[in-house]
Amino acid sequence: MLSSSAPSLTLQLITISIITLQRTRDHNSIDTNRPIADTYDYIVVGSGTAGSIVGSRLSEDPGASVLVLEAGGPQTVLTDMPAMERRLIGSDVDWSYRTTRQAGAGWAFGGRVPIPRGRVVGGSHNLNFMVYSRGNRRDFDSWSQRFGASGWSYWEVLPYFLRSENQTDREILSANAGYHSTAGRMVVATPPSVDPILQKWMDIQVQQNGIPIVDQNGPGQLGINWFQQTIYYQSNATRSTTASAYLEPYARGGGTIRPNLQVLTRAFVTRLVMTTDNTGGSSGGGGGGVRAAGVHYEHNGREHTVYARREVVLSAGSINSPQLLMLSGIGPRQHLQELNIPVLVDLPVGYNLKDHVYVQLDYQVLNKSLVNSRNDLTVENMYDYYVGAGGPLAQYPLVYQYLNSPMNNETDWPDLQIDLNVAPVGNNLTALVANKAVHRQQWEDYYRPHLGDNTRLGILCFHYRPHSVGRLRLATADPHDQPLLDTNYLDYRGDGYDIRALVAAIRQAMIWANTGQFSQYVRPWQHPIPGCQLCTDAVQAIHLCDQYLECYARSLTMTVGHQVGTCKMGGGGGTGSTDSVVDERLRVRGVRGLRVVDASIYPDITNGNTNAPTAMIGEYGSQLIRDDHQKSYRAVPPLPLIMSY
Ligand SMILES: Cc1cc2nc3c(=O)[nH]c(=O)nc-3n(C[C@H](O)[C@H](O)[C@H](O)COP(=O)(O)OP(=O)(O)OC[C@H]3O[C@@H](n4cnc5c(N)ncnc54)[C@H](O)[C@@H]3O)c2cc1C
Repeated sequence: MLSSSAPSLTLQLITISIITLQRTRDHNSIDTNRPIADTYDYIVVGSGTAGSIVGSRLSEDPGASVLVLEAGGPQTVLTDMPAMERRLIGSDVDWSYRTTRQAGAGWAFGGRVPIPRGRVVGGSHNLNFMVYSRGNRRDFDSWSQRFGASGWSYWEVLPYFLRSENQTDREILSANAGYHSTAGRMVVATPPSVDPILQKWMDIQVQQNGIPIVDQNGPGQLGINWFQQTIYYQSNATRSTTASAYLEPYARGGGTIRPNLQVLTRAFVTRLVMTTDNTGGSSGGGGGGVRAAGVHYEHNGREHTVYARREVVLSAGSINSPQLLMLSGIGPRQHLQELNIPVLVDLPVGYNLKDHVYVQLDYQVLNKSLVNSRNDLTVENMYDYYVGAGGPLAQYPLVYQYLNSPMNNETDWPDLQIDLNVAPVGNNLTALVANKAVHRQQWEDYYRPHLGDNTRLGILCFHYRPHSVGRLRLATADPHDQPLLDTNYLDYRGDGYDIRALVAAIRQAMIWANTGQFSQYVRPWQHPIPGCQLCTDAVQAIHLCDQYLECYARSLTMTVGHQVGTCKMGGGGGTGSTDSVVDERLRVRGVRGLRVVDASIYPDITNGNTNAPTAMIGEYGSQLIRDDHQKSYRAVPPLPLIMSY
């Protein structure tokens, strides 16, 4: 309902249309308006979280020409809006992958868990919850000590986290000054207003249950707080993707601002151009007999080839970077031979696929006044958002809480997390139900009473230090075919740790929400969920027994979108040296002129969300490349920090 003081509907519609057109034009102008040359110094494949940073940083040297090739289109007004996260999943900016059939996970989806990945400038940063979480310091110490990735311990990577961070919360800055920076390009902010129901949870946890308030990106993780998020609250409340922060400001206008940088969207790279190496020397090589000389790509229905003088950098993400390596003859010998792909370098590409899963518990908030999150694209909401950078479309607040499962002895390295947010049952429900191969009618019955209702509270339960390891293989030698993603979620035949940990998280969340102080504000949706049996055990509440909770976890298993590790980094000296794909300078072993700089190089998954560490990898990887070509590098001054339209 429009208030009487608001401008007329016509005026609001005109304003919305003009701003939409302006922003669309700005985003679209990232595409180069100059012809693509035959050769560049650097070719960067993918403009996601890492690739946007790499393209931007390498082109700071005006003497180096850089081409960024991106399979998806430019960012849009919808990818800009923080509240759109769940609507974008399954849309045309999503690669829409699925796992192979999992024995112990995603039973509600017939075992084939949907895997969203961003196919758009900005990559998966455009589909994500914008959470800024670096992980635990011990994750990186373990990368260095256990996997031999020297140079990647916590204190060594911290400067690259700081290089990318533009922290806008004064309290966070003053509480943990050494851990934060205002000098980076990616804006990190605390949500300015939150749903009162989330505040209730926070207050009860802190005051009644004694949970400390913590800055998870400071010295320790155990505790509770609002998630820091990458949103430009200080200007227009758009997502601060690394594409918006690093790439667009320099590539806008079709390439007039930084003439040595060109970005081509809707350019799908199909293979690397591999040649015999006869250059010798040290720059950007792994010391073998083959060299990455360029890439083949498709654009506007035609095939093209472009060459790299110095390096090809793969930043196509944890699914597409290993796919491209294998399509180009770099991968496990036997697997490539099965597909008749000539083997150039035998490397364990695609092994070590790791991810985080979560299970969402659904609750109805009893008092509607405790909820203000919405993702309805009404005229009123869009006007508030565009003109005042406010209203429900401007934010997606979440509260997080780290905790330890009973099995975890390393209490400074917690293994569980519980998050809360208000997530309306949106239009994507139809797609969700259609995907469910098992108990489809019961799932429709489960969701139907809540359609159109905005009072759904999601309590999301995570296990963040999983033991399960999966593997990515090619399905065929055709680059257009999706690879096979056997994620091994919840490690059905493994040591049982993952499922016990996830069950512990769900049980704790249910105890707090169903029986504690918080229960006066919410009512759980239907139990049992379709396909699962409640227990008859009189000792515990019927929905808290292991058997039911395990079925719950194995039915509604969802990915957090944290696929990592498929081009594992390992060092020369550590145990990782024999099973790694890239060395600690991110050079592909046995190949000259080729690096991987994205989330696929994680030796092990970090204890948190993976966007901030991937931005750190983008910064660190760019520095390594620049150092290796030092003679030619001259930095240019940066543009102002906060982008505004
Ligand atoms: C639904 C979802 C929610 C998430 N939530 C969070 C969160 O809240 N916080 C967080 O920290 N992390 C989150 N993540 C994870 C985080 O977004 C990713 O870890 C991160 O974006 C990965 O960055 P990347 O550079 O490795 O890959 P991407 O960002 O995926 O970039 C890869 C790019 O390469 C392009 N590409 C791929 N193949 C080709 C090709 N053949 N030719 C040309 N271009 C190609 C892609 O289109 C894409 O733009 C989430 C992820 C998802 C999917």
